[in-house]
Amino acid sequence: SIMQNILSVKGLSKTYDSGHQALSNINLDIRSGEIFALLGPNGAGKTTLISTICGIVRPGAGQVLVGGHDIVRDYRAARQLIGLVPQELTTDSFETVWNSVSFSRGLFGKAPRPAYIEQILRELSLWEKKDSRIMTLSGGMKRRLLIAKALSHEPELLFLDEPTAGVDVQLRQDMWALVRRLQQGGTTIILTTHYIEEAEEMADRIGVIRKGEIILVEDKAELMRKLGKKQMNLHLA
Ligand code: ATP
Repeated sequence: SIMQNILSVKGLSKTYDSGHQALSNINLDIRSGEIFALLGPNGAGKTTLISTICGIVRPGAGQVLVGGHDIVRDYRAARQLIGLVPQELTTDSFETVWNSVSFSRGLFGKAPRPAYIEQILRELSLWEKKDSRIMTLSGGMKRRLLIAKALSHEPELLFLDEPTAGVDVQLRQDMWALVRRLQQGGTTIILTTHYIEEAEEMADRIGVIRKGEIILVEDKAELMRKLGKKQMNLHLA
């Protein structure tokens, strides 16, 4: 089968009003169905890149095409294909888990599909909590909820911004297993991480970002071979 690029980023740059250049001429093509890990230290520009791709931050220069749709000029069509799991946990809320996830789906203009919502809540071990208020959930459950909300409109491309930062070992294992199941279901996944071990564990390809530039994109196996050969210590955290 022919591998298609679900995402194409061309010459993307971003300078914040502060004058800080967070992204510098980013070029990146993501293949449909792959797991891509964006690896980089604090402040490298990972969140800015994801936010710009998803249409939250306006690019200074360059273009983002999601399924062929320009994120700036054709935002609705492009955003429809994207699920975004942000780094920060949701603020406490009186809303229930079920309503919150259903509402997220509704924002995309999708018809209700309770069986699908049930499926993702079960998948994320949130089914027992469906009638609980978000404010009563643990940090780990809030993280799962954010994933459920991101999946609510059945996106083709899922962004996970540092999904395992500050989570316990069990939840980290659960996250990794979930990402694999999503990939098996046909979802393309882009995750950011500080940890080379996580990129190695999860990804088909790895991109390394430093100071707003993508300095390397490799198949995981190839990158690991090179790192081993050069005895290079890619100290990123
Ligand atoms: P982390 O791993 O800490 O989340 P990151 O790789 O996601 O880091 P970004 O959050 O994209 O990095 O930040 C990249 C740079 O841009 C940092 O120097 C940050 O201080 C700066 N930055 C981020 N958001 C803004 C903003 N709204 N205004 C000005 N500067 C910003």
